[in-house]
Amino acid sequence: MKVDILNVPFDNYTESEFIAKFQERIEQQQKTLVVTANPEIVMYAKETPKYQKLLLNEADYITADGIGVIKAGQMLKTPIKERVTGYDLFLALLNLANQKKLSVYLVGAKQEIIELAVQRIAEDYPDIQLVGYHNGYFDIEDLTIQTDIIDKAPDMVFAALGFPKQEYFLTGLKHQLDKGYLMGIGGSFDVFSG
Ligand code: UDP
Repeated sequence: MKVDILNVPFDNYTESEFIAKFQERIEQQQKTLVVTANPEIVMYAKETPKYQKLLLNEADYITADGIGVIKAGQMLKTPIKERVTGYDLFLALLNLANQKKLSVYLVGAKQEIIELAVQRIAEDYPDIQLVGYHNGYFDIEDLTIQTDIIDKAPDMVFAALGFPKQEYFLTGLKHQLDKGYLMGIGGSFDVFSG
């Protein structure tokens, strides 16, 4: 169920509907790239054909991450069920990974932040297999980190590099991976670690 807002095809599901779909795809080992699009992203896509194409052709799901998107949907008479943020999905998927003992890879934020995030995962989600992590300050053209992720083939990759960098990084990765849930989560590690 898609709702078009300024040429961005949003998926019109509640958070729990999204999570049910993601869980199914993870169980079936289907690659899944998720973009949580806020108004800033919608405006950026409008003026950046490369990013617009990514949203149309590469993202498997696009959620409405921001009250501005919900309001735009109402004004355009194509209402979206609810706001679904990257941070909330991140927490829900960590819970799922913990329950199902899945493997997770984290990329993004400053070194001390990512280390705190890793520590929190070990404490609060002890059954997650954290197979790797890296701070977010690297050249995405350099394939070292991609190669490490491909080798470890995690069930989930969370990239907190800010947009659009995280989506470009995850798209490159998606083409190389056979499975994995991939989602950009902006500044989420900063919140999660604090
Ligand atoms: N970041 C990063 N690498 C970069 C640029 C930014 O890892 O090259 C991180 C930064 O440390 C912060 C996050 O990406 O944790 C960006 O957060 P912001 O809230 O600006 O992103 P948005 O949610 O607006 O996309």
